[in-house]
This record gives sequence, C-alpha cells and structure tokens, in this order.
Amino acid sequence: KLDFAGRIARALGSRLREEHVQAVDAVNLAVMPGEVLGLVGESGCGKSTLGRMLCGILPRSGGNIYYKGTDVDLLKGRDAKEYAVNVQMIFQDPFASLNPRMRVRKIIGEAPLFHGLTTAGELDDYLNEVMLRCGLDPSYKNRYPHQFSGGQRQRIGIARAMAVQPECLVCDESVAALDVSIQAQILNLFMDLRRELNLTCVFISHDLGVVEHISDRIAVMYLGRIVEVAPVDALFDAPFHPYTKALLNEVPRLDRRGVDFTPLAGEIPSPLDPPSGCHFHPRCPQVMDICRQERPEDVEIAPGRRACCHLATMK
Ligand code: SF4
Ligand code: MG
Repeated sequence: KLDFAGRIARALGSRLREEHVQAVDAVNLAVMPGEVLGLVGESGCGKSTLGRMLCGILPRSGGNIYYKGTDVDLLKGRDAKEYAVNVQMIFQDPFASLNPRMRVRKIIGEAPLFHGLTTAGELDDYLNEVMLRCGLDPSYKNRYPHQFSGGQRQRIGIARAMAVQPECLVCDESVAALDVSIQAQILNLFMDLRRELNLTCVFISHDLGVVEHISDRIAVMYLGRIVEVAPVDALFDAPFHPYTKALLNEVPRLDRRGVDFTPLAGEIPSPLDPPSGCHFHPRCPQVMDICRQERPEDVEIAPGRRACCHLATMK
C-alpha cells in the first residue's frame, strides 16, 4: 500500500446514459489520509454523483479513481473488497436508507458478520462497542428504525458504516434533514470519530456553514466542475472564485462585518445544456468577454489553493 489511507483522484465525466448529462466533468481532486474535505455547491451541481463514484456505487463513463495509489478499476479480489469496505457512504435520509423491517441489531451487524470482523457469538459485544461509539444506547439493539428519532436514526446509519471499520466516510448531506441542534450533535460525532480513529472524510453539503467547522479543506463545485479548492481558513478569509464569494455571502457570520459580496442571482442552469465557456458566466458579477467563450483552466493560485476562473490567469 503506497499511502496509508485513501487517495482519490480524477473522476472524469460521468455521463448518465439516458439523459446525457455530464454530471461530473474534469474533476481532479485528491483526498489525503486523515483529512476532512468539504465538498460544497448548490443542489444539482454533481456533488452527490461525485460522492457515489468515490464509493464505487455509481459507475463512471470515464476517468479514474485511485485508492492508495491504485486505480480502483484494476483492484481485484481482496483488494477490491478492501476498497469497498474501507470507503463507506453515509446518506442524507437515514430513514430511507434503513430497512424498516430490520432490527438495529441486523442493520448494524449484518456487514461486519459478512466480512468476518466479528462472529455470531461475539456479535453482542461488537454491537455494544459500535453503538456506544456512535452515541446509541446498546440496549436498543432489538428495536426497529421507526422507534428512533431522526437524529438517532442518523446515528444508526453512521454506526452501520462504522461497523465495518472503514478508513474513509463519504457523507452526503448527512445532517441536512435534521434540526439545527441535532445537526450540531451529529457533526460533533463525526469530529469525535475522526479524532479517535483518524478517519478520512469527504463531507458533502449545499451549506458552507455546515462544512466550515469540520473541514480542513473545502472544494467548491459548480455544474459538474470543482471551481475552487482551498484550506478552510483561506477560503473564508480570502475567497477567490466569484461563485465561492456568492456562497459565502449566504453564510451568516458575525466576524465578517464589512465584507459584502454580491449575492447569488438566478437559478443554477440545466446541466443538460450548460452555458458556454465558464459555466458560471450568466450569474457572475465579474463576467468578462472571454468568460463566454473560453473555459477557464484549473490553476494553482497559491500554495495549496486552486481555482478555475479567468481572473486567476489575468494578472
Ligand atoms: Fe466569473 Fe469569468 Fe471567473 Fe467565470 S471565469 S467565474 S465568469 S470571472
Ligand atoms: Mg445531492
């Protein structure tokens, strides 16, 4: 194994065959071991598609995903299984992703038994540990999902993923369906898990305010492309891309008085017929002639920071 945890890169072009939507286009992104990468953008920008491709649960029409330095398409046997187990997805709606006719014991215990991480005789102890770690009362393991609150159900979804001892979680809007106070509790759980287990995490959200507190770096996505990647503080202190600025404008922050970016105007265009040149040009307050014709390159704007905007190459 070259790296110690997941390295995921280059998912080029997921073309959903029937609709011919290029949901993810020319994405070049690496996730480093132990880091939390926030992936943000408006709904429909392709972030869920990218997340599902990273977990290997959505096929790609092109491009490559590397796990610990190896193209996942070339993984076989044990290595393929290791990737499937080590990169786990956590969904937005825990209720929809939990089988209503299964007891929690089975929901959480099925996969670790299947993968030989525990035995039938030791399952109870195994479940106790996983449930406690995820903030669930182990004495509830014979209950059904509907007997839990929304926040508890999301903990069950997290426990199900954690039960196979993954290295990397891909969390897709994992707190979006929850009340704000419950959101904070679940975010704290992710931070605890990450600290205790050195988990790598890709945290997908439409809300920059949600990813701010748990991310080391943030990737901003617009219509299938990553338009800016930066360490979280740099992104909030000095956003580069006009789209990032517009998103930041929507995050209420006491310490950003005086900084006022133009709010985001208009709807996200249809990915069926994306705008020419820079996809963001019809909504961009800094649009120039070149933006309508030429697609901006992804360039390094500072060490560890990249952006995809003609303004980056104009100076
Ligand atoms: Fe705006 Fe042009 Fe930059 Fe696109 S390339 S974000 S339209 S300035
Ligand atoms: Mg989504």
